[in-house]
Amino acid sequence: MYKVLITEPIAQAGIDILNEQPDIEVHYDPELFRNYEKILEIIPEYDAIITRSGTPVGKELLDRAKKLKVVGRAGTGVDNIDIKECSKRGILVVNAAGGNAIAATELTMGMMLATIRKIPQAHKSVKEERKWERKKFMGIELAGKTLGIIGFGRIGSRVGVRAKAFEMNVITYDPYIPREKAEKLGVEYIENLEELLKRADIITVHTPLTEETKGMIGEKEISMMKDGVIILNIARGGIIDEEALAKALKSGKVRAAAVDVYSKEPPFNPDNPLLDAPNIVLTPHIGANTYESQTNVAVIVAKQVIAALRGEPVEFAVNAPVEDLSVLKSYAPYVKLAEALGKFLIQIQPGEEYILKLKGNFEGAEELIETAFLKGLLEKTLDIPVSIVNSKYLAKERGIKVKIEKENPDPTYGKVIEAISIAGNQKFSIAGTVIENKYPKIIQIGQFKFDLEPKGKFLIFRNLDVPGVIGKIGTILGKHNINIAGFQLGRVGKGKEAKAVLIVDDDIDEKVLEELKSLNEITFVKFVKI
Ligand code: NAD
Repeated sequence: MYKVLITEPIAQAGIDILNEQPDIEVHYDPELFRNYEKILEIIPEYDAIITRSGTPVGKELLDRAKKLKVVGRAGTGVDNIDIKECSKRGILVVNAAGGNAIAATELTMGMMLATIRKIPQAHKSVKEERKWERKKFMGIELAGKTLGIIGFGRIGSRVGVRAKAFEMNVITYDPYIPREKAEKLGVEYIENLEELLKRADIITVHTPLTEETKGMIGEKEISMMKDGVIILNIARGGIIDEEALAKALKSGKVRAAAVDVYSKEPPFNPDNPLLDAPNIVLTPHIGANTYESQTNVAVIVAKQVIAALRGEPVEFAVNAPVEDLSVLKSYAPYVKLAEALGKFLIQIQPGEEYILKLKGNFEGAEELIETAFLKGLLEKTLDIPVSIVNSKYLAKERGIKVKIEKENPDPTYGKVIEAISIAGNQKFSIAGTVIENKYPKIIQIGQFKFDLEPKGKFLIFRNLDVPGVIGKIGTILGKHNINIAGFQLGRVGKGKEAKAVLIVDDDIDEKVLEELKSLNEITFVKFVKI
C-alpha cells in the first residue's frame, strides 16, 4: 500500500480518484498545513504528499520523509517546494500544469467585455448610486477590432479562438512557437513585437513572468500603441509596467485597462499606482478561480501521483530525480552541452523547427540529448522548472519539433552535436563537442569556428571586417562599465564578414545593444547568457 498525505484543501474529485485505487491509502486533512509541526511528525510514514502553496516542502521536511517518493502540487507554481533537495533524494515532483487554462481564458474574455462596455462602472452607478446614466456608459464593440495577443500558449491561443468568434482580427507575437500553430487557428503570426503594438486596438499579455518579459510593456512600448488602445493583464504582475500603465490611463493614451495580477499581491501598502488610475477594472488574482479549474487541478495531480508511485510515465514531472542512471552519468557532459546549445539557439535565433545532428556514436543517449536540448531551449521562456523529464512534453504541447539526424563522426572532434534552428528560409546552426570526456565546448557558431566554454555572458556580433570595429565596440562597452573578459574572432576571409564573440562580466541591456547596432559596420548583435 502507498500512503498519500494531502495537507491542503483540494477538490473532492481528486480525492475520489485516489481513494478508488486498491494500492493507495489517503489521509486528507485540508487544515493540516496550518500545523507544520504535525506534518513533520507524521511525514515519515508517507510515500507521497500533495500540497497547494501553503505547505513548505523543504529540507527540514524532506530529512524526515524517509519513505517519500513523490511530491504533488495541486496547481502550477512550485515555489513552496525545494526542487533541488527533492531531486537529490530521488523524489519526483509533479504539478498540474494547464489545469486552469480555460478559467484564465474565460476571465480574459470577461475582462475584455467588462472594460469596453464599462460594465463594473455601470453596475455601480445603478446599484450603489441609484443613477440612470445611459449616455455615460457608451462603449465600443469587439467585432472588427484587432486583438494583439502576446504569448500564444495554452491561454493566449484559447483567447485567440474565442476572440475570432467575436469577429475580431487576431494577431499574435510569440517568438517561441511555430508560426503554423497560430496560422492553423486563423491567427496572424507577427514576427516583431513593435508591429503588434502598432496594429492592435486591444492588447492582452499571456506570457509567463521571466527575465525577458518583466516590464516588456513599459512607457516606450505604450507610446508605440494606437491612441485609445485597451490593455489587459491576466497573466502575471510586472509584465506590464504598472507606473507606465497608470500614467497612460491618466493621460488617455490608453482608453481602458483590466488587470487581475500585480507585481506585489495584495497591491496595498504601499498602494499600487493602478488603484487610483481611471478607466480600469481590477480583480484580486481570480484567473484560476472556477470550480471546474480546481477540479481539473485536483484530478490531474491525483493521476500524476498515482502514476509516479507505480513507476508509470508522468506528464507533468517538474524535476528529474534520475541522476544515478548510468546513461545519464556517462553522457553528463554531452547533456550539459546539449542544454547549452538550446540556450544559445533560443537567444540567438528561435526557430519554428529544430534539427539535432548527432555526429558519432551516441547510442542509447539520443533521447537524453534531445530532452536536454529542449530543456535549454524552453527554460528561458517559462516560469516553471523545466527538466529533462518534462521538456519533451512541454515542447510537444507548444508544437516545437526536433528532428534527430545521426551522422558519421566529425573528422576532427569525433562526437559533435550540431543544433540548427529553422525559421522560414533562415537557418542558424551552432555546434559543440566534449573535450577529454569532461569539458563541453562550443566549436562553431553560424559558419564560423570558435573554441568557447558554454558558460557565462557573451556578446555575439557579426561585422564587416574593416579596421577599427573592435575598438568602437570596446569604447561603447567601456562607457557603460561593461568589462570584457575574453574575445574570439572568426572570419571567412580578409575584408569579408567576420563573427566575433566577446565574453563579458556584466549584463548588457537593450539600450547598449541599440547603441552597438547603430554602428554601420555591425550587421548583427546579440547578448547571450548561459
Ligand atoms: P504557457 O506556457 O502555455 O504559454 C506562455 C506562452 O508565452 C508560450 O507560448 C511562450 O512561448 C510565450 N512566451 C514566453 N516568453 C515570451 C516572450 N518574451 N514574448 C512573447 N511570448 C513569450 O502558459 P499559460 O498556461 O498560457 O499561462 C500564461 C500566463 O498566464 C502565465 O503567466 C500564467 O502564470 C498566467 N496565469 C494566470 C492565471 C491567473 O490567475 N490570472 C491563471 C493561469 C495562468
